Amino acid sequence: MAGKTFEVAVVGRGMMGSACAWFLAEAGVNVLLVGQSEPVDRKKHDGVFASHHDDTRIARIVDPNPVKAWLSHRALPQIRHLENLTGEKILHDVGHLWLGPAEEVAVMAASDQNLNLGCQQFSPEEVAQEFTALSPPADLPGIFQATGAGHIDPRAYVRAEGAAAEQAGTTVVDALVGAVKEQNGNVTLETSAGEFAAQRVVLATGPFFAYGDTPANQLDLTVGTRTIIHFELSTEEAQRLAGLPSIIVKTEDKDRSFYVLPPKPQPDGRTIMKVGITRERKHLSPSQIADWFRSDGDLAMEPHQKQLLFDFIPNLKVLGSRTAPCVTTYTETGHPIIDNLTDRVSALIAGNGYAAKCASALGELAANRLLGKPWPTEINQQLFQRP
Ligand SMILES: Cc1cc2nc3c(=O)[nH]c(=O)nc-3n(C[C@H](O)[C@H](O)[C@H](O)COP(=O)(O)OP(=O)(O)OC[C@H]3O[C@@H](n4cnc5c(N)ncnc54)[C@H](O)[C@@H]3O)c2cc1C
Repeated sequence: MAGKTFEVAVVGRGMMGSACAWFLAEAGVNVLLVGQSEPVDRKKHDGVFASHHDDTRIARIVDPNPVKAWLSHRALPQIRHLENLTGEKILHDVGHLWLGPAEEVAVMAASDQNLNLGCQQFSPEEVAQEFTALSPPADLPGIFQATGAGHIDPRAYVRAEGAAAEQAGTTVVDALVGAVKEQNGNVTLETSAGEFAAQRVVLATGPFFAYGDTPANQLDLTVGTRTIIHFELSTEEAQRLAGLPSIIVKTEDKDRSFYVLPPKPQPDGRTIMKVGITRERKHLSPSQIADWFRSDGDLAMEPHQKQLLFDFIPNLKVLGSRTAPCVTTYTETGHPIIDNLTDRVSALIAGNGYAAKCASALGELAANRLLGKPWPTEINQQLFQRP
């Protein structure tokens, strides 16, 4: 590879970067996809981490935000295509239940109609009647998407995107990128696997956007440090709760809003169910973010977070639990930056907590932009531009 100049180098083998590489390679572009793999031991890892190092993320199309609904609708056939192409199981169609304010349910019902999703709406009483294992908040109506929703396996999604990119001719390199510099009409990438050159570079580095010497380290983005609680269930409890969809509960009191990932069998035979909450956003340096990823998350919030699930699922019996840290990256517009940072370097950064379910659609937007294709009229490009 020494001496070779790629047409495009994508930095970050995560959810959005791998998709971008795939779409570029499918279009005949000579692509380098370079990024670090998941750490073997996160507590001792000294490089970068990722937002997708997990086995479940909520997937749904129905959304109070029409841009997100459009993107997830766009991603669904891409996910099915990736599954067929690679044999990876990405989407687990267990359905999604969203409980929240009536005004937002009404907006979601409109997106349900526009996109023909076949959702069901429930009054608060109907939610309790329909989902008998739950004790939902008495004042929240709901909307339920039965197909094309549930949860995705983000690791499988990334593996499939990477495999599809490779099948289409992408060169994939496992390396830490320390610098991305424009030099002599090209861009040089200094990495732990040596130096590479490309005509254009896409930075898709997730929460580590400010790592190293790259044009993205000037971006003023915030991050949310999140703690997910993994509950291990007995076989009987897993059977009792087997039909549960993925669930989001959005209450007026932000501290009582949470999401639930239903029981999922693990390769080691255990069954795990997860609960998470969204906390405030802040500015953190790459080394502070790395410290968070090496930690066990916010242990002070753990009892409250556990109680949310115990209140929601009465008589829940768990064999044990553990906490895991993660980080989401945010912009002011609430959407990723898909825009130039310099003449030759662009960004595909900041999933804003929603990029897992529509990563391929976001990667496609970034790829098509580089290919000079028109931006889709259904979504406002300004939302994706650099401030
Ligand atoms: C707890 C939690 C729950 C979430 N729940 C949902 C959900 O239910 N639904 C949903 O849609 N989304 C959810 N998200 C958000 C979703 O996971 C992220 O938006 C998505 O993973 C972002 O993808 P990305 O490609 O931007 O970043 P990442 O997946 O983090 O990928 C970035 C990649 O870049 C690599 N990298 C970074 N810097 C360098 C460097 N210098 N050199 C080499 N490689 C580098 C990293 O190793 C990583 O592989 C959740 C996130 C968290 C943390």
